[in-house]
Order: sequence, then C-alpha cells, then structure tokens
Amino acid sequence: MGLLDRAGAEMTSDVESAEILVVNTCSFIDAAKQESVDTILEMAQHKASAGAGGRARKLIVAGCLVERYRDEIRKNIPEVDAVVGTGELEEILAAAGLDAPRAVIQEPSPFTILTATQAARAEGDLRESQGRFSRAEWDGAEAHLPQYLYDHTTPRLLATKKASAYIKIAEGCDHPCSFCVIPNLRGKFRSRRFESVIAEAESLVAQGVREITLIGQDTTCYGEDLGLKDGLAQLLDRLAVIPNLKWLRFLYAYPNKITGRLLETIAKHGNICKYLDVPLQHAAGPVLKSMKRGANAEIFLKTLEKVRAAAPGMALRTSFIVGFPGETEEDFETLCDFVREAKFDWLGVFGYSDEDGSRAFGLDGKVPARTIERRKRELMKIQQRVSKQAKSEWVGRELDVLVEGESEETPMLWEGRTEFHAPEIDGTVYINDFGPFEELTAARFYRCEITEAHDYDVVARVISASGE
Ligand code: SF4
Repeated sequence: MGLLDRAGAEMTSDVESAEILVVNTCSFIDAAKQESVDTILEMAQHKASAGAGGRARKLIVAGCLVERYRDEIRKNIPEVDAVVGTGELEEILAAAGLDAPRAVIQEPSPFTILTATQAARAEGDLRESQGRFSRAEWDGAEAHLPQYLYDHTTPRLLATKKASAYIKIAEGCDHPCSFCVIPNLRGKFRSRRFESVIAEAESLVAQGVREITLIGQDTTCYGEDLGLKDGLAQLLDRLAVIPNLKWLRFLYAYPNKITGRLLETIAKHGNICKYLDVPLQHAAGPVLKSMKRGANAEIFLKTLEKVRAAAPGMALRTSFIVGFPGETEEDFETLCDFVREAKFDWLGVFGYSDEDGSRAFGLDGKVPARTIERRKRELMKIQQRVSKQAKSEWVGRELDVLVEGESEETPMLWEGRTEFHAPEIDGTVYINDFGPFEELTAARFYRCEITEAHDYDVVARVISASGE
C-alpha cells in the first residue's frame, strides 16, 4: 500500500469506485485458501461487470496463494491481470501500471542489504539441505524461496486503527513443524536489522501510534541470524524506552524459546503488555513428537508456571490443532485435561488441515472430519468454562482501556481493549457508561472499571482519562 501510495495511487476499500482491484491472499490452510479463491472470483466477476458501467480495469492477486498456485491462478482465472508473490512486493507497481513513480526520494539504507550469510541460521541451512523448503510439487511455485524483507525506508500506509500498528521484525521460519507449509511460502528465517526496527517504531510513535505489536512467524528467534543472544529481549528493552509508547507487545513465542531474560524484560517495563501468545499446537507427547515440535503437557505446565511467576497476571494465549494424523481419543483427553489445568486467558482451536507440501500430508491415521469437528467443539466448550470463571474475576478491577470506537453491534455501546487483549483476536471490553465524559474519543486511553463479565467479553464504565 505504501509503494502504491507513493507512486500516486489513491487507496479505497470501496470496490465500486476502484479502478485497480488488489486481492491479498493467504494459503496457510484450506479454509484460508477457500476464502482467498472466493474473493478472487468475486472480484473477477466485479471486473467483468466493468463493461456494464463498473470502474474496475485491472485485477491483481498478491500474497501467499501466488507463492503456492501461481500457474493455476493464471490458467483458471483469466480475469487476473497480474500476480505478485510475497518475495516480489515491488512488482505491485508494474502490475498496477504505476512503475514510473513520481519524485521518489529513497534514502540510502545501511540496513537493507540481505546477504546470504546474514540471512542464514544453522537450522535453516540444515533443513534446507534436508528438503524442508521444497516447493517442487506446487503448481508453478518458483524454485527459489522468497527473500524479501522490508525496512524502515519502505513506504507504509497503516491499515490498522489510528493508535495501533504492527511491525514485522522477522520473516520466514526454520522450525520443522510437520503440519505447516509456512516455511515453503515465506522462506528461511531472517531478521530485520535492529536499528531499522527502532527507526520504524520511532517514526510510528511520532505519527501518533501508541501501541506497537511486533510480529513474525517466530519473534522469539529474533536476531539469531544477526548473531544476537536474546535478541528479542534486547529489542524490547530498547523499544520500551521510546517516549509516548504506551503499549508494546509481540506475537508469537515458540515454547522453548521463552528465556528467563525475555520474561525479566517483560516484567521490568510498565509499557510492555503482560501478554504472551505462545501457540502450543497440542499437549500430548506422541502428537507433539509426530508434529516435530516435541515436549508434552508436563513440560508446558512448567513453562507456564515459570511465565506466571516471572510476570504475575500475565495474560496467556495459545492455539491448538485437533485431529492431527494419529491423534487418539487418549491424546485428545490429554489435551482436554491440559486445557482445564493450564487456564489460558485466550485460546484458539483449529481442525487439522491436510496440506500438500507438508510432511504430515504423507502420514497415516488421518482423523475423520466429523471427529475433528466434535473435538474442536468439545475443547472450546471446556475453554468457555475456563474463560467464564476467569472473566468473572475481572469484575471490580480498574484497567487502562484503549477505546477503539463505537461498537459494531450497537451504537449504544463503545468498545476497546486492555493490555491483556491483542488487537483483533481476543475478547472485547464493551463500554456502556462514559462516566464524567459526554462522549469518548476513539484511539485514546481511558481508565475504566470492569462492571460485568460474560464468557469472553467484559463490560466497563469509564472513570477518567488515562495519562498517555
Ligand atoms: S513455528 Fe509456526 S510458522 Fe514455523 S513451522 Fe512451526 S507452525 Fe509453521
């Protein structure tokens, strides 16, 4: 979006008025692929209606679906004018017919150049030699893996609500999880330069951003390829002292990469959210072994204990896959018991999706779809009880809430988040009493008292403006 904007394009989310339609896609699991394809087809139809008075002239498909099905998209959807994979973002300009940008001032950047040695980690090299990143069977996927990594000089347009922004600090993944095709889509793990991340964060805060969420497929590996030890902790330490940065958080942690130093850093800074998203994927030892992730429920419980001891009150989020090939009723019971005991604040459950190109694709013992659905429902039911109990304990607490605006459900309510809610994914704080205020301002922080609790959401009343 930043590149297009700099080249003179005007952004709109209104499809009727767009001349160029860009569909940014995902192809991580079946449901995501389906949603991507449905959207492309819908836009293709919209473009075809251009002859009948519509404005759309071009349809561009971008993102992970292109990395995986480049040829198929071109062959089967002739309305698509161009495809842009994750490793060729700058091609969006040529695809849009805007490749002669207006006066472009490109600062020379000492951080951009990504050489082979800078990009490599021993795990990545080893796994590459073992064929971990093979895309041979994908239709039209180019043999080379994406290497792209943006930096602080890359133009950006924020698509998030005003006070909040994401910063990608690393790209790709070297972990060997057998159900996952992300390494094939995103390439080997590589970190952005330390100073480049700081420069971007400072610039976002100067533009009014108050909450920064660091993202990457595995943020806890940040800096390993740059020769940094505890790179994420070092980065957080440095970012936390940026004046006016109210909340700082990161997604996602790999369980065995949560170091003592990382926890100390989270505990030490008031503006680092007490929030940890650590996708565990399962809790039964045999399933985790087959997933090529290792560990078991007992090890995870110890990790959670360590986390909670280091930073009391830390909100914990995780996600699980049910129905992985070979998962027995006993394995599933182990997972249910673990969820009862671990008491996560937030939890997501995914049904196993059999992905061509993943190692699990070739495993025996595939679990029937009906069983997967039942296990998913059962696990969420358990979590619902855990969450209801936990949220009831929020009543009476005073917390800072980042108000995001009028509720989409009813104009009678406004909604926001606390430091224990990451953007877009966790529950909601509904505000039904503005306290001393006639009206609230979106993208501002208010001190609120929690007055009611539901299964996942809570209700609050405003007490005062919160110091920012
Ligand atoms: S760590 Fe995450 S992104 Fe990397 S292979 Fe495992 S599931 Fe995929």
